Amino acid sequence: MVLRTVAGVRTGEDTEDLRAFLMKLDGAPPVHETVVLGCGNHGDERPTWTYVEADAHAGVARRRCLQCAQSTPVLDSDQRWTHPPMWSCGSCGQSIAEVAAGLSVPDGDHVAWLVLGARCVECGRIDGLTDLVLDGPALGEVVAGL
Ligand SMILES: [Zn+2]
Ligand SMILES: [Zn+2]
Repeated sequence: MVLRTVAGVRTGEDTEDLRAFLMKLDGAPPVHETVVLGCGNHGDERPTWTYVEADAHAGVARRRCLQCAQSTPVLDSDQRWTHPPMWSCGSCGQSIAEVAAGLSVPDGDHVAWLVLGARCVECGRIDGLTDLVLDGPALGEVVAGL
């Protein structure tokens, strides 16, 4: 675990650090599961480098695979879309990230809360993107809709 904070900016070396960040958010519900989001169009490879648009207030997000440009909304984000700007790194300014979700699953089956975080692939900066309260959809259903 190499999560570091430099002048208020968290950085991590890889997606494991991003998962660790999601599990240690101050004042957040407990996170029981983390999922690194990857594109499903590439067989077993599931590339994780992506562009991402997220609205922290509306709780919507969408990612676009760097390799094949397919857009994937997070859950029902498309139905509530607010046209947020593309994420770019607050430290180095580039827009390619790895994105992971943290899920609060109090009973092990039903998801109560979801948080998304991004890690800049250039400098390693880690940012929270958005979070949303869910009304207990099944864990498998949520994971399939990320
Ligand atoms: Zn792809
Ligand atoms: Zn960066």
